[in-house]
Amino acid sequence: MDKKVLLKFFIAVGVIVAASAVTFAWQRDRAVQVSVAEEAAVPAEPEPGVESDAYILAKGNYSNLVTDLTDVDKPVYDRYTLKQRQEKGLPTMLPQLTHYTSEKVAYLTFDDGPDNKNTPAVLDILKANGIHATFYVTGQMAQENPAVLKRLFAEGHAIGNHSYDHNYKRLYKSKEDFLADMQQSEEIIFNILGVRPLIIRAPGGTVGMFGNDFYEAVNLAGYVPHDWNVSTEDATAKRPNASQEVQFVDRMTKGRLKDDMALVLMHSCAGKEQTVKALQGIINTLKAKGYRFGVVTPITPQPW
Ligand SMILES: [Zn+2]
Repeated sequence: MDKKVLLKFFIAVGVIVAASAVTFAWQRDRAVQVSVAEEAAVPAEPEPGVESDAYILAKGNYSNLVTDLTDVDKPVYDRYTLKQRQEKGLPTMLPQLTHYTSEKVAYLTFDDGPDNKNTPAVLDILKANGIHATFYVTGQMAQENPAVLKRLFAEGHAIGNHSYDHNYKRLYKSKEDFLADMQQSEEIIFNILGVRPLIIRAPGGTVGMFGNDFYEAVNLAGYVPHDWNVSTEDATAKRPNASQEVQFVDRMTKGRLKDDMALVLMHSCAGKEQTVKALQGIINTLKAKGYRFGVVTPITPQPW
């Protein structure tokens, strides 16, 4: 073949290749433009839930938790239940968050309520001290005392999920049973408050109760469990009186605790009158040791 002919042939092939590349690029850009336009044309569905200065309400994609969750003064709630997130295809697992360890913080936590006697008495003492605490409620107790649950919420305390009815046998059969129980409880809380807690406390504590596969399942569902490192022993066989409860807290906060954090386990259900009596002394003891008080949130460190 003549050299000139061959050259023309190659030029022709080059032109065709270049032209198709340009066409392809143009089509691709156009496709992007069209999809952007289509997205803009569909108005974003407004997110449910009532915003408030008193708490942080997680967005559907959780993006605001990364930016807004910088201290432990405000409770954090989700505007969707886990079931709603799954149905809408929203993320369920929380983003990576940094634990709050920059100062000495005591977290007063009260499990097994809300009852209609000791929980309101605890609330009065907290109010008089200008302190917020964390209440791990059961779905069953919330159902029985919705007005007390609403008061906890309105007064700025953090509400955590403590299972439906504290039934170890059902809860710890499998990770699926545990999650189903937590969901049963959160549906009740959600129906009363319009938000769901992200923080949970496993009845009896995760240590010794959770199977190895539970932690990952709980994490994937977006639940953040917290055990404790200080206790008034008010649910143990020791049955301490008020001054003994204060002594337990004093003894367990001797020396420096991990992450400078005292996560104090107490109970505010029927029969915990001694805890109500001890509370002012517990607050005074922790204050004297330089602790400030915070509410449990997803950035509260783990005690272990
Ligand atoms: Zn409990």
